[in-house]
Amino acid sequence: MKREDVLRLVRPNILALEPYSTARDEYEGGEIDVWLDANENPFDNGVNRYPDPHQVALKGQLAEIKGVDAGSIFIGNGSDEAIDLVFRIFARPGVDNAISIAPTYGMYKVSAATNDVSMREVELGTDFSLPVDALLAAADENSKIMWICSPNNPTGNSFPMEEITRLIEEFRGVVIVDEAYIDFAAGEGFLPELAKYENLIVLQTLSKAWGMAGLRFGLAFASEAIISLMNRVKYPYNINVLTQAHVARALEVDITEQVETIIAQRRFVIEQLEGYATVERVYPTDANFVLVKVADADKMYNELVEAGVIVRNRTKIVGCKNTLRLTIGTEVENERMLRIIKNFGA
Ligand SMILES: *Cc1c(COP(=O)(O)O)cnc(C)c1O
Repeated sequence: MKREDVLRLVRPNILALEPYSTARDEYEGGEIDVWLDANENPFDNGVNRYPDPHQVALKGQLAEIKGVDAGSIFIGNGSDEAIDLVFRIFARPGVDNAISIAPTYGMYKVSAATNDVSMREVELGTDFSLPVDALLAAADENSKIMWICSPNNPTGNSFPMEEITRLIEEFRGVVIVDEAYIDFAAGEGFLPELAKYENLIVLQTLSKAWGMAGLRFGLAFASEAIISLMNRVKYPYNINVLTQAHVARALEVDITEQVETIIAQRRFVIEQLEGYATVERVYPTDANFVLVKVADADKMYNELVEAGVIVRNRTKIVGCKNTLRLTIGTEVENERMLRIIKNFGA
């Protein structure tokens, strides 16, 4: 899809928007050491100054880590902010629609509803395969957005790159590939493909492999045209001073070893679960969780809770009857969970 075609998908009010100009946007150059432009309190307590609204330093670090241009990065208050912005930029309330797979991450649907955008959900095929033809067939002229989560939550599997590529090439709207769990999967995902597709948005987050869920730090990667729209619509100071400072330091720390430990624990948990009579099926996973099918998910869930272990009961989700989603924890935590599952009902 060409840049002009992507811009044609944007809501007219967003294209016409004059963004809020912060005090810090209005000067250029100069060695400023007296800041009397933003009505801040002058006494330094670490947070008396507004944060950088453009997060320039962080985007420089992230560009290097991710191998992309700083101009193709958006930073949000969690992925939730990027998800909401995509709806606000592309989907006219009450008119346009979005398409997603089902089951998938619940926030897409919640965000669609808060923006008064209808969601067309297409069920995954056998073994949670990607229903490419059905997703394309679900689109009409008001379909602006398609949500693909890979590795998918809660199923855990990744979809083949070629199949997602077909959706990006054939869908006449923007395709979001949510890669929240990409660090636990093999391969680099869609970041290396970014330059090829004007209608592609890749979501990542520091909440999972990077271990910073408490900070709320989500990332979107896309063409500069889309990123500049997101920057115009976001709250100017969406990432606070403490978060920016913490992340700048944390990005210097190598997470490889922790991720490898989690992946090794995942392998151990799967091996154990596969040998238990109380588990009917262990679904393949590329994420830091594993979905299992049991005879009675509600009962097993309650027994786990009573023993002080909480997992996610997905039994009410489409295609997931009697399943539990188990996050991979520390070795000690995993062994506690496994013991309860193994001895369930005994
Ligand atoms: C956990 C998760 C996220 C992360 O959301 P944040 O708001 O960045 O914490 C995003 N997408 C999916 C599919 C997830 O499971």
